[in-house]
Amino acid sequence: MKQELLRYSCVIHGKDRWPEDSIDLQVENPATGEQIAVVPEVSERSVAEAVESCALAFCSWKNTSPEDRGQIMKKISRAMIYNTDLLADTICREVGKPIRAAQSEVRSSADLMSYFAEEAPKIKGELPASGKSDEIVMVTKEPVGVVAAITPFNYPLSTLICKLGPALAAGCTVVAKPDENTPVSSIILAKLALEAGLPPGVFNVVTGTGETTGTYLVENPLVRLVTFTGSIETGKIILEKSASYVRKVILELGGNCPAIICNGSPWKENIPAIVKQCFKNTGQYCYRINRIYVEKEIYADFLKSFIEETKKLRIGLPENPSTDLGPLNNFKIMKRVESHIKDAIRKGAKLESGGKAISDSPLDSGLYFPPTILTDVNQGMLVMREESFGPVVGVMAVDSGEVALEYANEGNSGLAAYLFVPDTGTGLKMAQNLESGSVWINTIHQAYFSVPFGGFKESGLGREKSHYGIEEYLELKATYVSLEV
Ligand code: NAD
Repeated sequence: MKQELLRYSCVIHGKDRWPEDSIDLQVENPATGEQIAVVPEVSERSVAEAVESCALAFCSWKNTSPEDRGQIMKKISRAMIYNTDLLADTICREVGKPIRAAQSEVRSSADLMSYFAEEAPKIKGELPASGKSDEIVMVTKEPVGVVAAITPFNYPLSTLICKLGPALAAGCTVVAKPDENTPVSSIILAKLALEAGLPPGVFNVVTGTGETTGTYLVENPLVRLVTFTGSIETGKIILEKSASYVRKVILELGGNCPAIICNGSPWKENIPAIVKQCFKNTGQYCYRINRIYVEKEIYADFLKSFIEETKKLRIGLPENPSTDLGPLNNFKIMKRVESHIKDAIRKGAKLESGGKAISDSPLDSGLYFPPTILTDVNQGMLVMREESFGPVVGVMAVDSGEVALEYANEGNSGLAAYLFVPDTGTGLKMAQNLESGSVWINTIHQAYFSVPFGGFKESGLGREKSHYGIEEYLELKATYVSLEV
């Protein structure tokens, strides 16, 4: 597929659409500040057109056999792999993501699509025992209908596939609204899906900001499920607006994830993984480690190793294959990162590394920020209380693992938590008491597709990935059948 230059239309009912009443929205490369694309910010009328197209396509897509749906999804997955360079280059430029990480996002997204393709024919109903001998009761599962998928900037492709994959497998149709900073990869995906044989209207993409396009989508009465990944604040708005339609909502929201490092645990061999989990994607990562609680006996050793390992990270231009950290994506995130550091220092924290945006050429777009480590932190500081969503981490010495557990559970989020403990029994006991959707004990690695992902408390509602992820897109129907005639 040839990459078109600069102007990327929405995809509605199988066609490129640049509605006349839309406004031009510029997309910039955060690594350079250069304009890389223009997309339309579409009107409420165009969003309604996209939703109606999905409602029309739903009638036949839901009646397409799960095997046939799975076959088309596999073709989409293969098209993604075939177009890895195009998609990865796009993600590299629109997110500012280092090219190796962008390629890995494309490959794992394609694999996730393929996983859901395999899951489609496995959707099962039940035949519960009937109260009568001449009657059968069937419990079947049916797709909920038109889905609105609203995604963030940090993983534009994988967060979309986390929604599109289970929705298509279940038989739903999808209108996607990507983040305004990173819309191009979603548009390319929609075109690849059409080329792979997905019928028109099964997957539409509309572009624009959250305040306009996103709001029109959430306020459209034909949408039966909104699946959203983004901030807790926006998640609450979507939940509130959805209440008036009594519709399903899946929310994958913010993290502020803690790590607890206990004396006698295998923390030394896990230092590279811990550092990666703090700073990967320049900290723009929902289940990144935001705060670290270390038992006081090993605090000094841990801190020394942690700082040394962090110094090995290479900050650079995203297209350079040796770059570990690229720029932040946008100035909203930069402002948040700076405000967390300022707040911590004002309240007595010590800056161990980083702390200030980089301005040396060629890293002078204003969005490069080094890994920042703060110590002498307390639970009253923003860096410990709220998700920074950037390369900032607070490290605190604590008297015991129990105190750390208490601190870890403070606050409104509960997405993921990381435990380094001397033995499995202690780890499992602590894990039982952690208010968190995922817990990692003495290990950190890429999450599996077959394992549900989601948050406790304000970190979200519902689960993504795994067969649980597909269930979210299904309604249960009970049918009573008399065998008398
Ligand atoms: P955000 O909530 O500002 O934006 C996310 C998306 O929502 C964008 O597409 C945006 O245009 C849209 N949006 C904004 N306001 C809207 C509204 N009123 N109605 C409808 N749509 C609207 O999020 P952000 O701050 O740019 O993204 C970072 C956040 O995403 C972080 O909090 C992070 O933790 C979270 N996140 C969570 C996960 C997860 O799986 N839990 C994964 C990635 C990111």
